[in-house]
Amino acid sequence: MSVIQKTSVIQDVIAIVEEKDAGQPEFHQAVKEVMESLEPTVDKHPEFVKNKIYERIVVPDRAVQFRVPWVDDKGEIQVNRGYRVQFSNAIGPYKGGLRFHPSVNISIVKFLGFEQIFKNSLTTLPMGGGKGGADFDPKGKSDMEVMRFCQAFMSELFRHIGPDTDVPAGDIGVGGREIGYLFGYYKKIMNEHAGVLTGKGIEYGGSLIRPEATGYGAVFLAAEMLGTRNQEIQGKVVAVSASGNVAQYTVEKINQMGGKVITLSDSDGTILDEAGVDEKKLEFVLDLKNARRGRIKEYADNFKNVVYYAGKSVWDVIKEQSLKVDLAFPSAHENEIDGAHAEALIKNGCYLVCEGANMPSTADAVEIYRENKILFAPAKAANAGGVATSGLEMSQNSLRLSWPRQEVEERLRYIMREIHRNCLEAAEAYGMPGDYVSGANIAGFLKVANAMLAYGVV
Ligand code: NDP
Repeated sequence: MSVIQKTSVIQDVIAIVEEKDAGQPEFHQAVKEVMESLEPTVDKHPEFVKNKIYERIVVPDRAVQFRVPWVDDKGEIQVNRGYRVQFSNAIGPYKGGLRFHPSVNISIVKFLGFEQIFKNSLTTLPMGGGKGGADFDPKGKSDMEVMRFCQAFMSELFRHIGPDTDVPAGDIGVGGREIGYLFGYYKKIMNEHAGVLTGKGIEYGGSLIRPEATGYGAVFLAAEMLGTRNQEIQGKVVAVSASGNVAQYTVEKINQMGGKVITLSDSDGTILDEAGVDEKKLEFVLDLKNARRGRIKEYADNFKNVVYYAGKSVWDVIKEQSLKVDLAFPSAHENEIDGAHAEALIKNGCYLVCEGANMPSTADAVEIYRENKILFAPAKAANAGGVATSGLEMSQNSLRLSWPRQEVEERLRYIMREIHRNCLEAAEAYGMPGDYVSGANIAGFLKVANAMLAYGVV
């Protein structure tokens, strides 16, 4: 009887979302993944069922869509769609990045905002969940065009955010340059220098280690996971996808810990460098991607014995070339690893997947990781170091202090250790020992659900 009841509460919520939020496949995928792993909480917490916590948590507090008109270098008017989804402020101000990419739509922003609730809760810091962005593509735009777009975007966003309300950060397509333009315009129209965005430049309120935090955090978490099998990063052969912010600092930390990264990519193709992307080559990538804004193909043109696979993802190359890797850090975008990629990874010896990107593995791929009992860190645990360090930036802004580099990195490492411990403890307590997916979802959910209970029906 209780099994039927248990399944129906969760399945009913999923069915309602699929019906009421029709045409939002990424949001459905995220809700299904989180909700199904919360099943063990249903029997243990009748108070959550009675108070309709499961039904309430899948509906955002609000979702704003707005017009972003701006003028390009040719004097032509362009119109983009901007979004901010404020999903839950149960445990702190809304917090989550802004993504500028042509694929951005309400489904993508809601999936990211929903995941962000649990990720932020896991960090142990007081932050709610939100996400935003626009279908604007900074690629190929001049600095002035990017600036005009950012100003137009902020001319609407400013009325929805604030240091105690909602504190956005960067994500795909939103790095230091974009945050500078966004913050500069907010400061001008509000006439206040407030901690309203994170990922700021160090000169105007940013935190040391914030650019590095997501990549570093993912590697710290992977090291903790390897530790459960008496292994370490030292000596491991590693596949990293993308060559953006998360990928860059994943490579840096893996190098510092003695591993060897042999792949990088962008949306045009993949490079394979069996000698490893060492410190010098990484410096080239940082300049290529962050200053010159070039394509990863130039890496192959610049260094010896590097193969470039045009139009292929890292996971295609591993599958097609039977490439042996020990560890995988997908760091590009959602659903980049499908079932066939996951099978190929495992066949080629991979025993740890650590998701630097958000939801980079399809549901099929996750199933295959679980069946094969490899170590799998879902995004909300693996990439939580970014938002955690954003939380540290907010604390420093409130204190009007900046902590030294070493102090921020130590706090980040401590937070990733705590995330690892909390995931394992929750998984154990709810009968799924060693399952990081269930552990992350349950640990993140419990804190938010208990706060929602405390507030009554709001
Ligand atoms: P960047 O914009 O710095 O880099 C994105 C990278 O991914 C680029 O190499 C880009 O290639 C590649 N990429 C993006 N979309 C596609 C696509 N559709 N197909 C192929 N390649 C693609 O973004 P970040 O590094 O910040 O973000 C990467 C992932 O990490 C995202 O999922 C993001 O949500 C997640 N994340 C980021 C955090 C952060 O602190 N930055 C925090 C937590 C999660 P190209 O240049 O050719 O587009």
